[in-house]
Amino acid sequence: MSVAGEFEALYGAAPEGVWAAPGRVNLIGEYTDFNGGFVMPLALPHTAVAAVSRRHDGVLRVHSADVEGGITRLDLDALEPLAPLAGGSGASWAAYPAGVLWALREAGHPVTGADIHLASTVPTGAGLSSSAALEVVTVLALNDLFGLGLSRPELAVVAQRAENAFVGVPCGVMDQMASACAIEGHALFLDTRDLSYRQVPFDLAERGLRLLVVDTRVKHALGDGAYAERRAGCEAGARALGVRALREVPYVQLPDALARLSEESVRRYVRHVVSDNHRVERTIALLDAGDAAAVGPVLTEGHVSLRDDLRVSCPELDLVVEAANAAGALGARMTGGGFGGSAVVLVAQERADTVAAAVGKAFAEAGFTAPRVFPAVPSEGARRES
Ligand code: ADP
Ligand code: MG
Repeated sequence: MSVAGEFEALYGAAPEGVWAAPGRVNLIGEYTDFNGGFVMPLALPHTAVAAVSRRHDGVLRVHSADVEGGITRLDLDALEPLAPLAGGSGASWAAYPAGVLWALREAGHPVTGADIHLASTVPTGAGLSSSAALEVVTVLALNDLFGLGLSRPELAVVAQRAENAFVGVPCGVMDQMASACAIEGHALFLDTRDLSYRQVPFDLAERGLRLLVVDTRVKHALGDGAYAERRAGCEAGARALGVRALREVPYVQLPDALARLSEESVRRYVRHVVSDNHRVERTIALLDAGDAAAVGPVLTEGHVSLRDDLRVSCPELDLVVEAANAAGALGARMTGGGFGGSAVVLVAQERADTVAAAVGKAFAEAGFTAPRVFPAVPSEGARRES
């Protein structure tokens, strides 16, 4: 049944509309977004689809086709950030859509309630931002239904605020911006300092190339604490260097900056952030020059930096990069927060199957769970479906 049909079966009336928002994969620029730096994500064909109707009684009802359990019913006036949800079935995922309503109301927008039913094809916990897809589809639907008139970047900021302040995940704004602003056939070159962005043509097929996503299907537990530690280390580095954010350290001044830092881990983090920011600029220059194949080695360099300097990789991600490159890929890197999740592999179209098979074989030999491999086709950002 369609998402609209399921909505009607659940709530007893057809929805006012149906919206979709995609997951994303980040090509280059990792752990730079909370440093005011550059990132370059693209939207995936995988989407969260939500059927939504307004309510005018201060109630939010949410239901997900992908989660066991019934409808969660919440009183908007009783929503409290970072608290377990009261008055519902206790489904913790409901904090994502509830956080969006909370963030909109807190910003003074007249949102009086909603019925939401959603279904998503974005793999969860694979580093492909199923959470941002969920937030962005919710905020776009409410923006349209309540006539809030928010721009795409404004929607992304509300979605990020929901995740940071209500759910309690300290993510940057890249995922929400990618889901809200990406367009088909392009990567999104985003400056996270002021949210300015440019759509960079990224038609791989035209160049005889393919970008593979390799989902390792593992998520190691140290991820959350490590993210907070890296973030704190970057902030300490910025303070020590007298800048507001590491993005303000020009790449040419990196050796001087490193010489001024006493703590070894902070030095490594700063080296990663400043060099990865530079790698985004190099990638843009290569794409603008029509030389997408030359982006491969830049990806692999980025992986080495994430592995050795930031130290957020893991054996599975390292093995993807090693096996893919050994089998003739142009380059590869882990993508997203690390400690599991996904990697991206740039490869000539005719070698794509060989490389995917080589990665699968290496995983089998290492005794790892078989990875899931699919092509990252740069797709349309959030939109109204009907
Ligand atoms: P990622 O964003 O990398 O996929 P997160 O841990 O940030 O991983 O977000 C995953 C969480 O988002 C899930 O645990 C769940 O709470 C919520 N979520 C994602 N997709 C759905 C869905 N289809 N239905 C309900 N909740 C979802
Ligand atoms: Mg997420």
